[in-house]
Amino acid sequence: MAVEKTFDYIVVGGGSAGCVMADRLSAGGKHTVLVLEAGGSDRRLWINMPIGYGKTFYDERVNWKFQSEPEPELKDRTIYFPRGKVVGGSSSINAMVYCRGLPADFDDWAQLGNAGWSWSDVRPVYERLERRVDAQGRLSGAGGGSLFVSDVSKQLHPIEKHFFSGARESGLQVTEDFNGPHPEGVGRYQINTRRGMRWSAADAYLRPALKRPNVTLMTNARVNRILFDGRKAVGVTYNLDGAAAGTSMTALASRAVILSAGAVQSPQLLQLSGVGPGALLQQLGIPVVLASSVVGGNLQDHLAMSYYYKATQPTLNNVLSTWWGRLRVGLQYATTLSGPLSISVNQLGGFVKSEATLDRPDTQLYCNPVTYTLAPSSKGTQIVPDSFAGFILCFQPCRPMSRGRIDIVSPSVETPPAIRPNYLSHVDDIQAALRGAKLIQRLSRTPALRGLIKERMTPDLETMDDTAMIDDFRARASTCYHPVGTCMMGSDPSQSVVDANLKVHGLENIYVIDASVFPTVTSGNTHAPTTMVAHKAADVMLRANP
Ligand SMILES: Cc1cc2nc3c(=O)[nH]c(=O)nc-3n(C[C@H](O)[C@H](O)[C@H](O)COP(=O)(O)OP(=O)(O)OC[C@H]3O[C@@H](n4cnc5c(N)ncnc54)[C@H](O)[C@@H]3O)c2cc1C
Repeated sequence: MAVEKTFDYIVVGGGSAGCVMADRLSAGGKHTVLVLEAGGSDRRLWINMPIGYGKTFYDERVNWKFQSEPEPELKDRTIYFPRGKVVGGSSSINAMVYCRGLPADFDDWAQLGNAGWSWSDVRPVYERLERRVDAQGRLSGAGGGSLFVSDVSKQLHPIEKHFFSGARESGLQVTEDFNGPHPEGVGRYQINTRRGMRWSAADAYLRPALKRPNVTLMTNARVNRILFDGRKAVGVTYNLDGAAAGTSMTALASRAVILSAGAVQSPQLLQLSGVGPGALLQQLGIPVVLASSVVGGNLQDHLAMSYYYKATQPTLNNVLSTWWGRLRVGLQYATTLSGPLSISVNQLGGFVKSEATLDRPDTQLYCNPVTYTLAPSSKGTQIVPDSFAGFILCFQPCRPMSRGRIDIVSPSVETPPAIRPNYLSHVDDIQAALRGAKLIQRLSRTPALRGLIKERMTPDLETMDDTAMIDDFRARASTCYHPVGTCMMGSDPSQSVVDANLKVHGLENIYVIDASVFPTVTSGNTHAPTTMVAHKAADVMLRANP
């Protein structure tokens, strides 16, 4: 076993949260930080170019490509679970939509006993970390942070006018800014790009941090265990891919080990290291450091459902499905870094109430100017845009009540853990799915959207009663890639994994700082809140150890 030198902090995982931690903890120049990332470099065309999302989605060189266990309430389907395995983590392969979440999401966190996490506490953190760019490409607003949030409204597909008219006709509000004072309504998604290129957590935080002599990044370095001296974390062991494969390395941390391996792998690493359900650990021959059945529990995720329509007007399909269309937008991108290749396919959507009587939005919408099919090929599954004009209406219930688990099935880090989201196991989630489907039905029946719809593709919502809608949801709904909660924050050690400072209950010098600590999933996309969580956790650490 090769022993390396000691660092003040070891950050496990260079994703959305890990990159922030590396930057913030090293900025003062006093602390040394080692980042261990299992994936490789993010210097890839399909990562930098926003439309490349469709390419990295199934690319095992940058994606863990997990698969859930069969889901009982989804007709025993196993659900594909992409996660970033690359510098920048999932922020390097995600759809770049930037949504802070709804203010009440964070008030929920505080009400669950997490002091310091209410909306009034976290809003200033968001304001500090963002750097807003307006539709003209000018820096706007007060935010002077490193995370570029771009208004790309001038680049959006012209079908937006049908979407907005349809939304108004069905009684939905319109908002100018999901990240402003009035997030409710339909609108245009802002995205993490800068001058037409993806702006991942690595771009915003890790690359600047690596210019400092006190930060070390090791790529293709997979942590397999946290080392404890009693109940104090003192370091990690890890394996390197490639030349040095097979050699187990050790790195020591004098101040703290920070797990930022994401909602699937942070609980996996705790369990592999003896922190988790006692019986499971004993069964797998893992010495128990701290028995805690909540490690890996409380898994929450957004379940999304899409409906496909053939369109009366050209959509992105007309551009992306022909070689001359691709050449045209490719040239546009190469010369101006603009056009459809410079933005996300998730262009329009919103946070809306599926029923007017609700006290807050319960449904997130998407309207994408593209449809596609999945095609097997020698390079694996490919996403192929359809040859006819088409678009998608999609919804996800915002705050699912179902809870699942992630548990190791072997003492080896090489074996993926069992992912059991337990989708639709709570009756409220079935009702939320039904309300969402009816909302899409209402929207698609408006004169504005009827004018855009040439043909409703099967399965067609119009032909469905309530029973058929739920059945269709069970048959087709899938993850929206927002797993959170598996190392939940809370004040009661018997019900949660980390405290409000994100330190693991009952252990010393070990923190979990990533999407796993969310006590409840925020109403929207999870990269922004994960980034905020890391900033806030770094504030606390730096106050204690400037
Ligand atoms: C396909 C997809 C689309 C998405 N779209 C959006 C979107 O449009 N907007 C949005 O807000 N959110 C989106 N998300 C979700 C969002 O990206 C994640 O919630 C967020 O990035 C999670 O950050 P994290 O720090 O918790 O984990 P990650 O960013 O996943 O980082 C974890 C890192 O740890 C590394 N790691 C894991 N195990 C080990 C180990 N043993 N040793 C060393 N390193 C390890 C991983 O390789 C990874 O780099 C999407 C996610 C996916 C997968």
